[in-house]
This record gives sequence, structure tokens and C-alpha cells, in this order.
Amino acid sequence: MSRVPYLASRLQGFNTTIFAEMSRLAAETGAINLGQGFPDTDGPAEIRGTAIAAIEQGQNQYPPGPGTADLRHAVADHQQRFWNIDVDPDQEVLITAGATEAIAASLLALCETGDEVVVFDPTYDSYAAGIAMAGAVMRPVLLRPPDPADGQRFWFDPDELAKAFSAKTRLVLLNTPHNPTGKVFTVDELAMVAELCLRHDVIAVTDEVYEHLVFDGEHRPLATFPGMATRTITVSSGGKTFSLTGWKIGWAVGTAELISAVRTAKQYLTFANGTPFQPAIAAGLRLGDDYFERFRDELLAKRDLLCGLLTEAGLLAYRPEGTYFVNADVSAAGIGDGIEFCRRLPELAGVVAIPSAAFYHDRDDGAALIRLCFAKKDGVLTEAGQRMIGAAFTG
Ligand code: PMP
Ligand code: GLN
Repeated sequence: MSRVPYLASRLQGFNTTIFAEMSRLAAETGAINLGQGFPDTDGPAEIRGTAIAAIEQGQNQYPPGPGTADLRHAVADHQQRFWNIDVDPDQEVLITAGATEAIAASLLALCETGDEVVVFDPTYDSYAAGIAMAGAVMRPVLLRPPDPADGQRFWFDPDELAKAFSAKTRLVLLNTPHNPTGKVFTVDELAMVAELCLRHDVIAVTDEVYEHLVFDGEHRPLATFPGMATRTITVSSGGKTFSLTGWKIGWAVGTAELISAVRTAKQYLTFANGTPFQPAIAAGLRLGDDYFERFRDELLAKRDLLCGLLTEAGLLAYRPEGTYFVNADVSAAGIGDGIEFCRRLPELAGVVAIPSAAFYHDRDDGAALIRLCFAKKDGVLTEAGQRMIGAAFTG
């Protein structure tokens, strides 16, 4: 006799991801897909060539569980070169199946049932599911949309942040640059988070997958704040930085004690992955500064292109400080609700976007917002924008 429903209670409510759903809608309708975040141009030929050569040379069996020494050294060198963070590649770096596994393994390794995890709301979709799988409880702190009269930045109330921390808090899971809002946390905001971590003896897990996509302001890893190096697990991956999202090579960096805990969980999730991709991502991390600068400049121009087109289409576009996503308020476009707007967008304009509500703890908080990805060819962005302008949204 089967016990139904099959899905365990801790995963109830986490059905198909919004990305899978909207990419399917794009495929079914032939609409331009600005929903799921992935670039439409593959990363550098020399990185891809390294993976091809590795396959040809027989690097096809399991890599070492913590990742190849070469890639762990490349990650350590990258942390030193860009962020002035000193790490021991043998003890303090763990290679994972994307940032997603690094985050899930950190939650599973560090949380007891009922422990609280502070997050800024909205969150990337795997956070709520990861917290639930770890038996922990999410404590969201709302990021409020910009007041257009007062600039473009999503912001939070420092009192609300302080109130979210308590004796029950185990972790803060911080994402900067932030998906979906495009917010880059300022030094003052990060200092507030760091101070609360120290005061409440909380560990930080920071998701920095967009570390090289900052257009305004600067990226400052939380681990570089006073007292935080010993209580931060810094997570990133090669997917965004090298436009190779399908390779799923990520990493976690932190003290030997923290990384040892994360490794314990990780080794029973995937053990290891992506043997031929590890030397290739190592080669990517060693590319010259010109690569990283050009990548950022290209995306900056795309940000401005798409924001301009969205504005022309009558939407209120919030220009992001980082990432490759822009949020737009659709209130003035006739269909004020983002979910309804995204459902009808393929038919109205032949474009797919993501309703930002999908990322919010309380969907009402993101009801008016949609998220669009601008990591696409200029011609694709222009065509999508023209179609939206032509749709003359009226409801
Ligand atoms: N974190 C954020 C904020 C993301 O946007 C993504 C998107 N892919 C991930 C984590 C997942 O990274 P990966 O593909 O390396 O698992
Ligand atoms: N990170 C991508 C986004 O935010 C999606 C990755 C996925 O499909 N899980 O769109």
C-alpha cells in the first residue's frame, strides 16, 4: 500500500521551479526567453577547448571528492587576486556541483532541525527548498523596491534585520550581487550584517555567483569584514562568470573547520562531479583582468539597452547595480499583476519573463514586479524590447 502524497511534507509546495515552467512556456510558444537566467552565447573558446582536451586525454573518471588540486589552487588564487582573501587550497576550498550544491551542503551540514536562517527576501529559489530540506526555518527580511523619486536601490529596514536575529539564528544566507533584485549590498549594509553575526554568534553563507557583474558600487565579500573570516563560507561558481551555466562547477571557501563540515554533507550528495570541466574552469579563473573587465562592460551595455527599451514600453525598470537581471514594475502597463502579466506576455508580445513574486516569501510583496534576463545578444534584446513597445500594454 502506497503512502500518498509521495512528496515528503518538508518538500510540499516546492513543485516545478519557476525557471523550468517559464522556459517550457517559451519553447511551446516560440517566444523570446528572457526568463531563466542563462546567456545565449557560450563562454570563451579557450575554456571550452580545455574541457574538450581533458575529455580526449582521458580525464573522465571521478575527480577527488574535494575537487582537483589544480582547481582548488585556482580558486584560492582568484580569492587572493580579486578580494585579497588568503585561503589554503588544501583545507579551505571545496569544489561542488555548482553554487547550488555548496549552499545545500552548507545548510545540511550546519543546521539542526528548527535552527533559523536569516535571508533577504526575495531569495533565489533554491534557498527556501534548501532550508526546508535541512529542517531549518527561514527568517526573511524584506528588500523593498526603490522609491523612484529617491534612486534605484532596493533597500531594507535595519530594525527589521536586527529583529530577525535571535538565539535561534544559526546562519545568515546572503546573496550579493542579489538575484532577483540586482542589488549590490553596500559596505554599510554588509557591516550591519557582520555586526549582527558577531553579536549573535551566527555563521554567514554568502552566495557571490555574480561577483564579477557589478556595474555600480563595488563587490565586497562579507568574509573581508572584521571578525567574519572565521565565520563565513563564501560560495561562488563558474557558471555566470564564464557563461557556462550547464557545467555546474562551484566552490565553497572558508576555515578548515567550516569546510570540513560542508565536505561531510557534500560527499554524500554528489561526492564529486565534472572531471573534465574542473581544469577548464581553473583555466578560466586564471584568465587576465581584460577578460573580467570586458565581460562586465558587455553586460553593462546590455543592462542599459534593455532598461531603455522597457522604459519605452511603459514599464518602470529598476536599473540593477549588478547581476544580469532587471526588475520592472508593471503597475502602469494595464495588467498590474506580475504573474498575470508574465502568463499573457508570450501572447501579447512574444516574450517570456519571470514573475518576481515567485522569489518572495509572501508573493504579495513582489506582485507588481517581473524579472528579465539581459545576458542575451543585443539583437535579441532589441527585438524583445520592440515587441514589448509594439504591444502597447493596455490590459
Ligand atoms: N545563486 C544564485 C543567486 C543564482 O542566481 C544561481 C543561478 N544559477 C545560483 C546560485 C546557482 O548557481 P549554480 O548554477 O552554480 O549552481
Ligand atoms: N539562476 C538562474 C536564474 O535565476 C536559474 C537557474 C535554474 O534554472 N535553476 O534564472
